[in-house]
Amino acid sequence: MAELIISISGMRGIIGENLSPMIAAEYGAAFGTFLRRRFSGTGTLTVALGRDSRPSGQMLTWAVGSGLCAAGVHVVDLGIVTTPCVGIMLRELGCAGGVVITASHNPVEYNGIKLLMDNGIAPAPETAAEIRQMYFDKDIDLMDSLQCGQCCFEPRTDEVHIEKVLSLVDTDLIASKKFKVVLDSVNGAGGRIGVKLLETLGCEVHAMNYEATGKFAHTPEPTKENLKDLCKTVGHESAVVGFAQDPDADRVAVVDENGTYIGEEYSLAMAVQYVLSKEGPEKAAANLSTSRMVDDVAKRFGGSVIRTPVGEANVAKAMIENGCTIGGEGNGGVIDLRVGPVRDSLVGMALILQLMAETDKTVSELVKEIGGYTMVKTKVGADKQQAAQIIEKVKQKFPGAKVDESDGARFDFEDGWVHVRTSNTEPVMRIIVETVDEAGAKRYLDAVNAIRDEILN
Ligand code: MG
Repeated sequence: MAELIISISGMRGIIGENLSPMIAAEYGAAFGTFLRRRFSGTGTLTVALGRDSRPSGQMLTWAVGSGLCAAGVHVVDLGIVTTPCVGIMLRELGCAGGVVITASHNPVEYNGIKLLMDNGIAPAPETAAEIRQMYFDKDIDLMDSLQCGQCCFEPRTDEVHIEKVLSLVDTDLIASKKFKVVLDSVNGAGGRIGVKLLETLGCEVHAMNYEATGKFAHTPEPTKENLKDLCKTVGHESAVVGFAQDPDADRVAVVDENGTYIGEEYSLAMAVQYVLSKEGPEKAAANLSTSRMVDDVAKRFGGSVIRTPVGEANVAKAMIENGCTIGGEGNGGVIDLRVGPVRDSLVGMALILQLMAETDKTVSELVKEIGGYTMVKTKVGADKQQAAQIIEKVKQKFPGAKVDESDGARFDFEDGWVHVRTSNTEPVMRIIVETVDEAGAKRYLDAVNAIRDEILN
């Protein structure tokens, strides 16, 4: 049986195997107890609770909601909504925290419970560790009948979220272009709100895999091999762009007007290009695994990029501390603090359409202008100890590189970089290489793989 993973991002497991409603209720009660202690004396506490479209989502929503109510916390059920929607609504409603029932891009057999604090960001590592320990110790305060939390429903989520996203762009300008757009929502939570946003922006929308059934029409991660149908449809429909969301719609990948998958890295690069072209020489933020393209784009506008450990919370924190408007992760996770400190496919789509409208350039022209690198992402099963050994050896291998050790180790060279890190959500080690050409990528990857094989065998 696979291990139930409890990390900074929350809990993730397999339904019917290791993630049950009993576990979910206790986890909810531990989070509720944590919040009551943290905010003691501040009156009634409410948590916003949303879920992606997985069939197990309703069951986990009830279970987590029960746990929260048992601990004396009220629940606002947002229904099937995107992950960024929960981050936005919990702040809108003045909640003490939020919970998203989602396993993001993982296949349908998985589900997860993601916690958010009152600022809309995942808990800091020490806070996450405290909640985790409370769950393991069953350190839960159960309230009496009169103090139990109550649940209500909130139907305004799409409206509130869309209004915030529209404030970033010139709706009339985008609408004047009458863009034809294909949106693949992979039967996740993003279809309904995604189509509403695009239609409000005056686009002619061809919606694929729109119904929020959770029966994903293809493997849900928005990578090249999973988006062949989207690429074909963009061609058939003569659309100017194709967008693909992951099931909880915090990530967006882009397909150009020729039906070519251009990858998730360009989502952030294009968003940074538009925002810095308006806001001037600002700092942007991106995690260590994100392409150098964002640095190139930022430099063009006199700006620069702050690098952070991988994880939305780390990027959001750096953005707030450094006053960044735009930031995110290279996996298609675009964050604009004017909307919220969360990765948001709606923000990504709106900013890219605005860039297209203002520059009068096609996606392929914008991509050409930004340029590109060869990026290779690999992963291998390795425990923390093995990964640490591998990282140590790689350090010895590249003594001349500039090293950032805030998350595993990233080695920067003239012609590229290598990032070796362990995942927060799976027992795997990731190796990401980006260089100016394929030969360089192969050279660095071969060097790291040789070390990896030596340690793992
Ligand atoms: Mg996601």
